Amino acid sequence: MYDKTELLWNLITQNFSGRQNEKLHKLVESYYGSNPLKENLNFLIKSLEESYGTVILTTGFPILKLVAPETDGPLGVIVLSKVLTKLGFSIEIITDILTQPVIEKLIDVAKVDVAFIYVVSAPKNWNNRVIQEIMRNVHEIRLAISVETPSPNRVGVYHNMSGFNITNIVGHFAPIFEFFKMKNIPTIGIGDGGNEIGFGVIRDLIIRNNAIPFAKKCRCPCGEGIVADVKTDALLSASTSNLGAYALSALLSLKFKIDFPLTPELEEKMLIAAIDTGAVDGITGEKRLMVDGIKITKLKEIISQMIKIIKE
Ligand SMILES: [Zn+2]
Repeated sequence: MYDKTELLWNLITQNFSGRQNEKLHKLVESYYGSNPLKENLNFLIKSLEESYGTVILTTGFPILKLVAPETDGPLGVIVLSKVLTKLGFSIEIITDILTQPVIEKLIDVAKVDVAFIYVVSAPKNWNNRVIQEIMRNVHEIRLAISVETPSPNRVGVYHNMSGFNITNIVGHFAPIFEFFKMKNIPTIGIGDGGNEIGFGVIRDLIIRNNAIPFAKKCRCPCGEGIVADVKTDALLSASTSNLGAYALSALLSLKFKIDFPLTPELEEKMLIAAIDTGAVDGITGEKRLMVDGIKITKLKEIISQMIKIIKE
């Protein structure tokens, strides 16, 4: 099992898109002192093994220039949902208002059973409402997993990877993760840029090593860098967040001897559905079958490799 974890970690951290986030993967490795995928898998299994209940998944990182949702994040959430429902867990998704239609369409296309979708927005009182709604069944929540969810920096400003302030167009997820922490709900953060929920755990390392562009100074008047302040109990980086979520889903399927539900064909179907509902590629901003600059042909190849690794 653990040699497969090694192979999958090597696969999901390859520089497919040329966006150079290898430094980030090295820092996550140094934070754990071992394979981060293995650490995240162990944490995930430990959080879920005691009893059945609800898993909350969060995603939604809109593109500033286009005010549109992106293709990275929602697909990862859907694949995790498929595996976790097969294992008997109830799924609730928290997303932003722009990403909501993409999530709804993907639930339909991938035929996954999601109990509830919460929508967070920029105004703070909306999020209090979401927290109040989650509160009702808080004792049911076993785990929260963030896949490509924006995090504010140390002074509460949300930024994109180009260093610009996106506070007014993103869902404000920070109070929700503060709530999880207060309630001792285990959390996992999956990201690829250093400005997503979870990277708070290696914030100082990212800044000291100048590991991402605009780590020390952003392009907005807040004057701070873009590095995430919100921490999660476990942190996973990957070439794109979807690939991190897929690898974790693949290992979970292997561990509990269920079929891994993702196929290259399903990836293409989901990507077409995401584009149809307004999603764009997070790097180029284009309405094409791509995730963070990686074309569908390459994505299908990566998924085939993933399936081969867990089946061998
Ligand atoms: Zn700023």
